Amino acid sequence: MKATTEIQATMEEGKPAGVGGISRRAFIGSTAAAAAALAVGAGFDIAHPQDAFADESSPVEKRYTYCDMCNHVPKCGIVAHVKEEKVVRIEPRGKYPAGPICAKGVASLQELYDPNRLLTPKVRTNPKGTGKPQWKDITWEEAYATIAEKFNAAKEKYGPDSVLFFCGDPKEPRGAMQRVATLFGSTSYGTESSVCAAASWMCAQMVFGQNSMGQDPNDKTASALIWTLNPAWSQPYRFSQFMAQKERGCKFVVVDPRVTPTVTGLADIHLQLRPGSDGALLAGWMNQMIELDLVDKDFVENWTIGFDELKAYVKEYTPEKVEEITWVPAEKLVAAVKLIGENHPMTLVTSSKGGCHQTNVGNFQRGVFMLPALYGDLDVSGGLMLGPGLPFDYTASTAAFQLEPMYVEQNYAARRLDRDDFPVWAKYYKMIQTAKLPEYVAEGKIRAGLLLGINSMMWPNTPLYQKAIKDMEFTAAIDYYIRDWTHDYVDMVLPAAMCYERTAPLAVFGRKLFMRTPVVKPLGEAREDWQIILEVGTALGYGEECFHGNVEAALDELLRTADLGVTVADLKAQPEGIEIPGGVTGDRKYAEGKLRKDGQPGFNTQSGKVELSSEVLKGFGFEGIPRFEEPVQNPKSPEAKEYPLVLSTGSRVPYYTHSKLRDVPWLNQFMPDPVVRMNPKDVASRGLSNGQEVKVYNQQGEIRMFLEETNMVMPGVVDIFHGWHQADVNLLTTRDFDPITGFPPFTCGLCEVAKA
Ligand code: SF4
Repeated sequence: MKATTEIQATMEEGKPAGVGGISRRAFIGSTAAAAAALAVGAGFDIAHPQDAFADESSPVEKRYTYCDMCNHVPKCGIVAHVKEEKVVRIEPRGKYPAGPICAKGVASLQELYDPNRLLTPKVRTNPKGTGKPQWKDITWEEAYATIAEKFNAAKEKYGPDSVLFFCGDPKEPRGAMQRVATLFGSTSYGTESSVCAAASWMCAQMVFGQNSMGQDPNDKTASALIWTLNPAWSQPYRFSQFMAQKERGCKFVVVDPRVTPTVTGLADIHLQLRPGSDGALLAGWMNQMIELDLVDKDFVENWTIGFDELKAYVKEYTPEKVEEITWVPAEKLVAAVKLIGENHPMTLVTSSKGGCHQTNVGNFQRGVFMLPALYGDLDVSGGLMLGPGLPFDYTASTAAFQLEPMYVEQNYAARRLDRDDFPVWAKYYKMIQTAKLPEYVAEGKIRAGLLLGINSMMWPNTPLYQKAIKDMEFTAAIDYYIRDWTHDYVDMVLPAAMCYERTAPLAVFGRKLFMRTPVVKPLGEAREDWQIILEVGTALGYGEECFHGNVEAALDELLRTADLGVTVADLKAQPEGIEIPGGVTGDRKYAEGKLRKDGQPGFNTQSGKVELSSEVLKGFGFEGIPRFEEPVQNPKSPEAKEYPLVLSTGSRVPYYTHSKLRDVPWLNQFMPDPVVRMNPKDVASRGLSNGQEVKVYNQQGEIRMFLEETNMVMPGVVDIFHGWHQADVNLLTTRDFDPITGFPPFTCGLCEVAKA
């Protein structure tokens, strides 16, 4: 007898589905009640489509994996119930550190069995630029042979840097991709981090010598400053931990242009600022710290450089002046500075949304990282702790596995395409800043590419990037689906296995390592992305170095380079994970020489001190202090006469990650159409009404969306979730890149809204 649940019945009718055992209405209700951050308690019976159903009487085997739907680390653990090699039910994995599973995690199963998944390698049969692609199935062997022929031909004719090795979403295969790029000799290894969060990491490195996005509050934290993050929607597993700290008594200040569930749930004080004015708010914050005598003078005197320069700069940023620029009431700013200053230790939490997507990020975001230092709460328990962890990057790879020593020894950096455009970025990262991809292709510097999870809509002014992909002589994409807005412009698409079907990478939580094992075989001819990349490397002539595509062998090499005395076999034998002993602990490690690579007291910055004025930036001809500059497009710029609304894009919703998951019925029912959010005042002044179709436009283009009238957004601002291929907001965002980081101004453009 086949299993029959409500979900199965509704899916057969082709309607949006509920979850087995729960009606669709109840599912929506429970999701809304939890701000759509649906926590899975007892697990759900789910199966789709019909051919994924299993016999009810078959035995169930529990297998373990983790979710990668939001592409964050750590990922939430999943127990998969497998019948007849089909996943029929999922539930949270109890001892796994991250959880519970949110709505996207639940829906991952519907994506796994989505009949529209890409399941065979395909090559286009009509030339690019001649209309929609015609696809023909090919074998993996044919695909690899073509890629090797095209890449090696480009290398011979134009040099190895002419081949781009790009890793978009998911981030997980970066280690393998960078290894293959370096073996091939290409310095053109790029990732989506060049528009995501890497600006924040490099700013932290400039200030205190270590990658950081801040640190979540813990039981010792007295106050937390969240500079624009909404984990209630974007990272539910994290938000529950924040709420626990709130209940314990931790004070919260949240800086955010929107009234999000994180604001309503956590904030003792909410600073609702105009998007893009963060640098001015920050200068005002520092001004008040000095005025109110809240700066840790001992720390500043002994462990920082540039304080006098900084002090002179922030002097003019009085709360009144800051109110004028940022729209934040002066008294609220003062109250926030005091609340944090009176509750030590404080910690700081930042995000890519809040920090990185501005034309001033290279300055502003450095300033944010200076606050814990100025308060004296850097590298103290409960504050923003520093110190080396395990030798993995955040995608669980090692520098040695990625062949960074070879990159350095052979001076790859000297050949990078981006070194003149973004020299500071090039100093900090061994991945290129891809902001100027259209220029590099137009100049003939990039001719071919292996493009994993690439999305043309991730860059401002999307059509330029679509053209760049089209104009390359040969490109092979790797993905779960054919996504027209990008794959219309490539030559080949290769099917990637999803999280339930993959092994790599390892999961690293603090000092604990876990092995992921596939819970089912990949559907169709899909292969896991690590395997595909290593097999491409093998086809290019690096079989031994790429383990002939054997993923477990690659992970063993990765573990060997981590030098922790743990192997794949050890991890497979311990599904509950292996804790790695040791680590550098304790407060104020900088004073004891426990932070610097040379063992000297201080920080891993150029000066060895916390740099309130950056020596690195001065070396590149920039100013050292975090000076505020208005966004290129701002309410006082000439374009504002015609386009008076501030355009803020990129904030998250609970049911989608970027452009992903739009076709998953369980999620799509919550937001089936592109939405622009506006304050009731702006709606009324334009004679618009809630729910109507409108056009959003500026000097660059126009998109059609449905209007949501909401007090979540402040007057004068529109908020648009990105990634709608039918209404791509990056048709409206501009290529005004921050000169330090190369990041685009996704949160601070201009636009107007009118009846469609
Ligand atoms: S928060 Fe949700 S989408 Fe992200 S890993 Fe956890 S279950 Fe998956």
